Amino acid sequence: MKGIYPIEKFKQKATPFYYYDTQLLRQTLRAINEEAGKHEGFCVHYAVKANANAKILGIIAHSGLGADCVSGGEIKAAVAAGFPADKIVYAGVGKSDWEIQLGLDLGILAFNVESIPELEVINELAEKSNTVARVAFRINPNVGAHTHAHITTGLAENKFGISMRDMETVIERAAELKNVKFVGLHFHIGSQILEMGDFQALCNRVNELQDQLERHRIHVETINVGGGLGIDYQHPNRVSMPDFKAYFDTYAKFLKLRSWQTLHFELGRAVVGQMGSLITRTLYVKQGDFKQFAIVDAGFPDLIRPALYQAYHKIENISSEEPLETYDVVGPICESSDVFAKAIDLNKVHRGDLIAIRSAGAYGEIMASQYNCRPLPKGFITEEL
Ligand SMILES: *Cc1c(COP(=O)(O)O)cnc(C)c1O
Repeated sequence: MKGIYPIEKFKQKATPFYYYDTQLLRQTLRAINEEAGKHEGFCVHYAVKANANAKILGIIAHSGLGADCVSGGEIKAAVAAGFPADKIVYAGVGKSDWEIQLGLDLGILAFNVESIPELEVINELAEKSNTVARVAFRINPNVGAHTHAHITTGLAENKFGISMRDMETVIERAAELKNVKFVGLHFHIGSQILEMGDFQALCNRVNELQDQLERHRIHVETINVGGGLGIDYQHPNRVSMPDFKAYFDTYAKFLKLRSWQTLHFELGRAVVGQMGSLITRTLYVKQGDFKQFAIVDAGFPDLIRPALYQAYHKIENISSEEPLETYDVVGPICESSDVFAKAIDLNKVHRGDLIAIRSAGAYGEIMASQYNCRPLPKGFITEEL
């Protein structure tokens, strides 16, 4: 089965471009709100870095989710899209002074702090601004995730967060500083995680850390477990949404949330991944010695995931119903890594056929570059076509 596209409208557009199915986005947001809403104290933030297209951000803000930002630019984009500042959390291992200042001026919900030097700079800037910054500490839980090595972040060997060993020292340091208020713990173990057992392992670790803190009479208001819920890149039609029920139920069952606490989530890919496709036109079909190539007008500057992470995206010829043939789908860039897929079956391809690269709503458009002086790909939502 193929995805359903407004193909006549696509034909009039210059390619490559991203197409965002807003009906699927809205369905996904409803499912998130419904499943998270079944549990007291659950608050979901959208990880802006997955897709910061202004129209997409607007729809997500309107659904009531908060935002999770990793730069000053993302904070600005989130506010411009309508996310209230008091639903914005700000993470990142290297925050610049102007970015911290922006968060202070707007009065964001929390800074997710990753080191003592950062804590001290936030305190200093908050003092100058005559304010108190709410801070959570990102703790590295040393929990592995079954995902690609480049996107696992919760192991002791990764650069992220504060080690569990230092947790109390950092909290004590915060207590000495007048312009920061310690509010909670933050975690994020990686991305594209499909095994609920990985999240369960994080819950167990959070429980241990909470017990340890309570023995020292330290109580926290918020627990933030980050994002990382994966999508089904193999079956974007059959599994157009992650199993949000299983995800939130895992946390409800295994994380011992205290009655006064809120539990925060930062979902990126799970919100926007499946609603996006990169639409590209076939320039040439080239016969090689042992294979044939579909050469398309999109390249890794438009969608870098296959080249960067060896990521799989399902690819469809949406212009043809002719019998299947086997192709390597490649872009025009003069680098061997500019390959979207090798030896895949597509309905027979002709010059001019439109090709859909599926599940490209997350870490697609936002990671595009102008390499080779190519224009950045545009993103269109359903209503704009
Ligand atoms: C990237 C990131 C997320 C979102 O990750 P997804 O895998 O897209 O859900 C959430 N929180 C933090 C701190 C991140 O760095």
